[in-house]
Amino acid sequence: MRRLGVMGGTFDPIHLGHLDVARAAADALALEEVRLVPSFVPPHRTAPGASAYHRFAMVSLAAASHKRFTASDEEFRRGGPSYTADTLRGLHAAGFAPGELFFLTGADAFAEIATWKEYPALLDLSHFVVCSRPGHEADMVRGLLPELSERMVDGREFEAGAAPRVVLLDADTANVSSSGVRRAIAAGQAIDGMVLPSVAAHIRKHGLYNARQ
Ligand code: ATP
Ligand code: MG
Repeated sequence: MRRLGVMGGTFDPIHLGHLDVARAAADALALEEVRLVPSFVPPHRTAPGASAYHRFAMVSLAAASHKRFTASDEEFRRGGPSYTADTLRGLHAAGFAPGELFFLTGADAFAEIATWKEYPALLDLSHFVVCSRPGHEADMVRGLLPELSERMVDGREFEAGAAPRVVLLDADTANVSSSGVRRAIAAGQAIDGMVLPSVAAHIRKHGLYNARQ
């Protein structure tokens, strides 16, 4: 069975915390590839600070940092609001079985899963990997979503099978958020240490988030 990781996000901009999640999941679950999928129009939030195209460019730069990471334009080609259910169904149409797909989220994002389109049927479209985030242990979703306890499994105990699971993964991820990066830029602070050097250079070069060169 193949194992494909899929990580959705606004990536406004992509930062070191995102890449830590992708790396931790790839290592813990032996994923052959992690596709980073920027949303074209994020459905649950206000418009991003950078255009979809600049967000994609930064995701591509970040994907170059690891041989298993790729950048996917799937949600751009579809256009309109970007729903995870549609993205996962597109992967089924491309030949992936639900048990071969691992959708990666941070624990803060998964805590909101009941608001996502097609919940709870959505959870049968792939495995969902819930990664800890500073201030949010992966385990916290057990208490928040007791109705899912039967499908929850600790990352260390996960065994490949057809039945889609919610895999809880504890990993050290950088204490960074995209909003923190944007705030730092607005305050005129350096963002080295929050994003990859290539992404910082792209932000400065194009004056994104009002960054000066
Ligand atoms: P914002 O502050 O704008 O919400 P963000 O840093 O949360 O940005 P998103 O694009 O919203 O980034 O997140 C995409 C996915 O990455 C989500 O599932 C989120 O939980 C996860 N994520 C983001 N940062 C981290 C981090 N530092 N550690 C673990 N997961 C993270
Ligand atoms: Mg977020």
